[in-house]
Amino acid sequence: MRIKSLKLAGFKSFVEPADLKIESGLTGIVGPNGCGKSNLLEAIRWVMGENSAKSMRGGGMEDVIFAGTASRPPRDFAEVTIRAERDVGEPAAGFASNDDDPELEVTRRIERGAGSAYRANGRDVRAKDVALIFADAATGAHSPALVSQGRIGAIIAAKPQERRQMLEEAAGISGLHVRRKDAEQKLRAAENNLERLSNILADMD
Ligand code: ATP
Repeated sequence: MRIKSLKLAGFKSFVEPADLKIESGLTGIVGPNGCGKSNLLEAIRWVMGENSAKSMRGGGMEDVIFAGTASRPPRDFAEVTIRAERDVGEPAAGFASNDDDPELEVTRRIERGAGSAYRANGRDVRAKDVALIFADAATGAHSPALVSQGRIGAIIAAKPQERRQMLEEAAGISGLHVRRKDAEQKLRAAENNLERLSNILADMD
């Protein structure tokens, strides 16, 4: 998967709508301290389904909404849209209008008091669906492809179990754990139903 553009509005210091094109090759973001370079990386992780406010450097998820300055009032919502192109053979996960359409556009919006909502290629989707499609492409919110400040130190100090998680993210198989958990839940529900059914049948005998 290749990220092609990032659109932000009301996200952290990006109060005005900003549309950044990410061309092929190496992209560098330069600017003075505190101008918002890390906020851009956080916007990418956030739209991919990041659900830890702490890793967004906030106390609660609404802290990603522009909080206002001495001269500008705070905003009521933040929105980030990422446009990406799927690689050949990468699963469409039901978001694309057809399997041959490589375009993927995901939007996450948060409103004060109303939480987050996601859209993928124009359809309302769950946070989990978004997290899965990026995890399958080995580029999710926790992917080692996104290296935030302090991350290198954290990797060096990581426990074996945490290193394994990083390798699984990099290999694009972390979504399989989520699917396995879902399948196990469905299996348990089906087993419960079967047990109830056999009890009812036994009562009828
Ligand atoms: P450095 O080079 O020092 O690492 P940086 O360019 O990576 O800095 P960021 O850490 O991305 O900068 O941005 C920090 C700026 O974002 C601060 O000025 C902070 O006030 C602003 N900021 C963060 N959250 C919000 C918010 N919710 N509303 C308004 N501004 C915010």
